[in-house]
Amino acid sequence: MNKTKVLIIGSAPAGYTAALYAARANLEPIVITGSNPGGQLMLTSVIENFPGFPDGIEGPELMMNMKKQAENFGATMVAKQVESIDFSKRPFKVTAGKEEYEAETIIVASGASVIWLGVKGEAELTGKGVSSCATCDAAFYRDKTVAVVGGGDSAMEDTLALTKFAKKIYLIHRRDELRASKIMQKRVLENEKVHPIWNSEVVEVMGDPMVNKIKIKNTKNGVVADLEVNGLFVAIGHKPTIDFLDGKITTDDKGYIIPVGETGTNIEGVFVAGDVADSRYRQAITAAGQGCKAAIDAEKYLEDR
Ligand code: NAP
Repeated sequence: MNKTKVLIIGSAPAGYTAALYAARANLEPIVITGSNPGGQLMLTSVIENFPGFPDGIEGPELMMNMKKQAENFGATMVAKQVESIDFSKRPFKVTAGKEEYEAETIIVASGASVIWLGVKGEAELTGKGVSSCATCDAAFYRDKTVAVVGGGDSAMEDTLALTKFAKKIYLIHRRDELRASKIMQKRVLENEKVHPIWNSEVVEVMGDPMVNKIKIKNTKNGVVADLEVNGLFVAIGHKPTIDFLDGKITTDDKGYIIPVGETGTNIEGVFVAGDVADSRYRQAITAAGQGCKAAIDAEKYLEDR
């Protein structure tokens, strides 16, 4: 049986920062990294808004640095996925990759994952022209025509990544106004390769073996039309990763954990940090800040007991 004072679930800015603080407090935290260590920032390119890097830093590099920094102070990384947690006894029993861990406190920093459109053809053609990561896949679309769905910063980032390779990018948004930050909107809309299609939804993805067409529907007049594309990038947001909590931790109707106080949850000794509890800011820097707070709160909780 592996025993720890602090078990951290998740390995992105929130989890790594919690690990750094818990490790520096001599709590020898164990971090269960999950199947996607580094989280969403592993799929981005340069991060321009994480303070301390005036020229920006690549997402994967930032994550590697955070991991190394936490390890330098004694955090242990375990490349497993949490399957279940028994919250009924103390210490809590966490099962990950068929191993059991006993934890006096838990910090849930499991982040969020991609939301798909859920339309016909999308799942079948994922990896065959349908993608959720332009940073990963844009280079496959040199001189091709692609579409990006979404109106937020993720869609803008994907569109900009694609402008480096594709010859034409349709930006398909269900309204006639983007949600993204003004600076990102400007960069995208001023690029001559980008062709916005407003008030439209993708209703089907087609092609065999690769995507060659999508069906789009005008949300104002209901007219459906075919659009020839070689790729479709879905960038409509993320959903919190909470399956392993089995409904024991209180969430809102979208599944985001509702913090009690700053970083507490409805179960004493279980803390939360990062995107899994944040549907509003969802930034690397805010997640890191919450990771720091959660570790300090866990330390205080252990001291008080
Ligand atoms: P988001 O801000 O929630 O935007 C999602 C977009 O997808 C919205 O425009 C939404 O349309 C659209 N959408 C949602 N469901 C849809 C559906 N079923 N069909 C078609 N369109 C749909 O998500 P995000 O872009 O992933 O950004 C999340 C957060 O991360 C934001 O706070 C953002 O600022 C941040 N972020 C920051 C950066 C950066 O700073 N570089 C990069 C990426 C993300 P409506 O507008 O009509 O709701």
